[in-house]
Amino acid sequence: MTHRKITIAIDGYSSCGKSTLARQLARHLGYRYIDSGAMYRAITLYFIRSGIDPQQPQQVQEALPQIHLSFALNEQSGDSEILLNDELVSHAIREMLVAEKVSEVAAIREVRHFAVAQQQAMGKGRGIVMDGRDIGTVVFPHAELKIFMNADPEIRVKRRFEELFPSNPALSIEEVRKNLELRDYIDTNRDESPLRKADDALILDNSSLTREEQLEKVLKWVAQAAS
Ligand code: C5P
Repeated sequence: MTHRKITIAIDGYSSCGKSTLARQLARHLGYRYIDSGAMYRAITLYFIRSGIDPQQPQQVQEALPQIHLSFALNEQSGDSEILLNDELVSHAIREMLVAEKVSEVAAIREVRHFAVAQQQAMGKGRGIVMDGRDIGTVVFPHAELKIFMNADPEIRVKRRFEELFPSNPALSIEEVRKNLELRDYIDTNRDESPLRKADDALILDNSSLTREEQLEKVLKWVAQAAS
C-alpha cells in the first residue's frame, strides 16, 4: 500500500536519541532528514569564531545576514551534513565549546526567526523528518505526526558521553551531565518558543527500547498518520 508523504516532527530533551530515530525514519521512508539543532550549533560556531557577543543585539542583528546555512548529502554515510558559508562543519559543531554556548544563542528571538524561516521553507514539499525543540509547536504546527521523545537522564548522559568521548578523550562524564542539564534548563525555560510537548504529540520514551523496537513502533505511527 502506498502512503502519502507526510511531515514528521520530533522534539525532546537533549540526547534522548532524536537524531538516531529521525535518521532511521528518513532512511526507511526515503524522506529528507533535517537536524535543526545543527543549524543553531552552526550559528553559534559562527558567533564564536567572529567574536559576536550573543548579549549584544546590534552585533547579532549584523551577524545573521552574513550566515548562510545549507545541507549536503554525504554519499558514503547517507547522512545530510551541514555547511556554514559553504564550509562543512558537521564535526566542528559537536565541540564542547559550541555545546556550552548554543542554548544561550538559540534563546535569542532574532536567531530563532532566522532559523525557523529556513526550516519552514525546507519542509514545504513534505516527505521530511525534522528534529529539535520546537518543531511540533512552532516550525510545523500542522505536521501529520509529532513525536515527543524522552529517556532516563542517566541513560542520556551515558549515550552522549559515549558519542563524544572517542573524539575528545579528555572529556569527563560530569562535564557532559552538566551540559545536558544546563541546556535542558535553558531550552525549557526560555521565553521564545521553549521546549514543550505539543498537545497532539505522541510520547516516546526509549530508555528500554532497542533501535529496532523503536523504529518498529514509530513506523506504525507513521502508517496511521499517512493513511
Ligand atoms: O539537537 P541538539 O542537541 O544538537 O541542539 C543543540 C541546541 O540547539 C539545543 O540544546 C537547543 O538549545 C537548540 N535548539 C533549539 N531549537 C531546535 C533545535 C535545537 O533551540 N529546534
